Amino acid sequence: MAKVSVNKELCIACGVCWALAPDVFELDPPTGKTKIKSPYLTKDSESMSEGSIPDNMVETVKNAASSCPTGAISVE
Ligand code: SF4
Repeated sequence: MAKVSVNKELCIACGVCWALAPDVFELDPPTGKTKIKSPYLTKDSESMSEGSIPDNMVETVKNAASSCPTGAISVE
């Protein structure tokens, strides 16, 4: 398992992570920012969306994180 988080204050809603890891990231229409998808979502607030992902998704999510133009995604 790994923890993933999106800093919504940095997210510019470019859509790169939605395309690269569509099972984990989605647009949250009310905020216009990225949100972690259910069932991986563990906590969602105005400024952060946090989740927990299985090991077999870590590489995909790390790729999305490194492709995010604003560095809004963290994977630990
Ligand atoms: Fe937001 Fe980064 Fe995802 Fe683009 S790649 S939608 S800036 S979190």
